[in-house]
Amino acid sequence: MITIDGSLGEGGGQILRTAVGLSLVTGQPFRMEKIRAERSRPGLLRQHLTAVEAAAQIGNAQVEGAVLGSPSITFKPGKVIAGNYRFAIGTAGSTTLVLQTILPALLLASSPSTIVLEGGTHNPHAPPFDFLQKVFFPLINRMGPQVVATLECAGFYPAGGGKWSVTIEPAQKLGKLELIDRGEIVRRSARGIVSNISKQIARRELSVVAEKLGWAADCLHIEEVRSPGPGNILMLELESSGLTEIFTGFGERGVSSEHIAERVVNKVRDYLASGVPVGEYLADQLLLPMAMAGSGCFKTARLSRHSTTNIGVIQQFLAVQIDCHPKDQNCMLTVRSAEI
Ligand code: ATP
Repeated sequence: MITIDGSLGEGGGQILRTAVGLSLVTGQPFRMEKIRAERSRPGLLRQHLTAVEAAAQIGNAQVEGAVLGSPSITFKPGKVIAGNYRFAIGTAGSTTLVLQTILPALLLASSPSTIVLEGGTHNPHAPPFDFLQKVFFPLINRMGPQVVATLECAGFYPAGGGKWSVTIEPAQKLGKLELIDRGEIVRRSARGIVSNISKQIARRELSVVAEKLGWAADCLHIEEVRSPGPGNILMLELESSGLTEIFTGFGERGVSSEHIAERVVNKVRDYLASGVPVGEYLADQLLLPMAMAGSGCFKTARLSRHSTTNIGVIQQFLAVQIDCHPKDQNCMLTVRSAEI
């Protein structure tokens, strides 16, 4: 049995999600201690618990320690059964992170799946629904599977109540993905999204985007969405010939709309200046599917601690070599099967 120290590196929930995901893929059981030891509320929170329970259900796993607040679990996977499932977090916890946990196994399952998820869809510190739909899934689809997601209702913290579904047509194996050149930016879009709060918030955010990035009026969109509670996000989308990237700011009580917008604008400026195709979050999310493929490469500005921690966990389950070489002030990440 693989043993994993959940306090290593970043010491957050990603260590758990990656371990559970790869345990289902490889059939290897694991024991994890000190789960999320570096977080202010360590142990399993509702979102992590739902992820473990969802994985246990689709993978017929035997699990010990799967209770709220638990600092350790033992996870012994059985056979993965694709099909129709519904997972509700019961709070505004991130549904996209629950999907992140079970997706790897379903990408290689023997038949298609449809998963319905309920809870938060646009949470800070998690991929927003739109990021999965427009950035991550199109890249996964280039590796062979076909993953299509539909949003029924957005869910923001703290009210939650979001709902979306995803269908997954698996592949027999994942193909090689290379993301080296970004190519020209062919489309820019800024969406100021509000739910149950004044559209003026979105208007103020978008005026910062227009002023600081010089984007034309036809790139700026105010969207009012249906959701049980209040919410605000600003999403800046950049489509290039190679891929789409999305940068998101989350409205926060006590922080001005202008400040939220400036933070996102700065992320976009850094991305544009770096010339790389893959942003920081996409980089850590691509590691696992590329490792499953046993090959692939991408150029990114720098690897986050989140990514380096994730690489350590991946290598406990898969025999892959993952190297990061400096290139033109950026970083070229390559994944190779270590068995060759
Ligand atoms: P926890 O906080 O539960 O312990 P964690 O520390 O592992 O979990 P984070 O480091 O916050 O969680 O990241 C979770 C995941 O969400 C990562 O895969 C990261 O790429 C993704 N993510 C975070 N913010 C964004 C964003 N704005 N856009 C896209 N993806 C994001």
